[in-house]
Formats: sequence, structure tokens, C-alpha cells
Amino acid sequence: MSEDVRKIGGKPAHVYTCQEVAATVEDFLDQECTTEVRAMLEEHVDACPECFERLGVERELRLLIKQSCSPKSTPRELREKVIAKLQMIHIEGCTP
Ligand SMILES: [Zn+2]
Repeated sequence: MSEDVRKIGGKPAHVYTCQEVAATVEDFLDQECTTEVRAMLEEHVDACPECFERLGVERELRLLIKQSCSPKSTPRELREKVIAKLQMIHIEGCTP
């Protein structure tokens, strides 16, 4: 009857909230989460532009840090820009 209950692999899927996505995004990017968690997170991100953008910014930030090896050599303006963007998303997006 309830067709709006989404299922993954026959089991009822827990749909992540924005807060849960925010808490899991680091593990996701580090690939330290389980396949189940990945699937749930990806499903939420597919449907939630705010979290999609957050994930993109997190990934971008990580790439920047990785590329520059040490925080000292990261262009300060660029770092601040990315961090400011992250904070903006945090404030604007994901209202309960
Ligand atoms: Zn979300």
C-alpha cells in the first residue's frame, strides 16, 4: 500500500536527514563508511541540493588540502573562500 516507503535490497531504507549527512560526509569522503551508509548518503544527496553542494564543497576543500600538502602552502584567500562557502551553506541550507 505505502508506495512512498523506499526500499534498498528489500529492506526498508532509513532516509538520512541533512544532519546525518553532515555527520557522515567525512567518513564518506574518506571511504570509511559501509556500503549501506554510502548508498543512503548518496540517495539523500541525489534528492537534496543543499547536501549535494555541501558534499561538493567538502570534496573541493579536501582536494585543496591534499594538493597543497601543508596548510602553510595553501593560498590563504582560497582557503578562506572555501570555508566561507561552507559556512554559508550551513546557515542557508538544511532547515528542519
Ligand atoms: Zn540534505
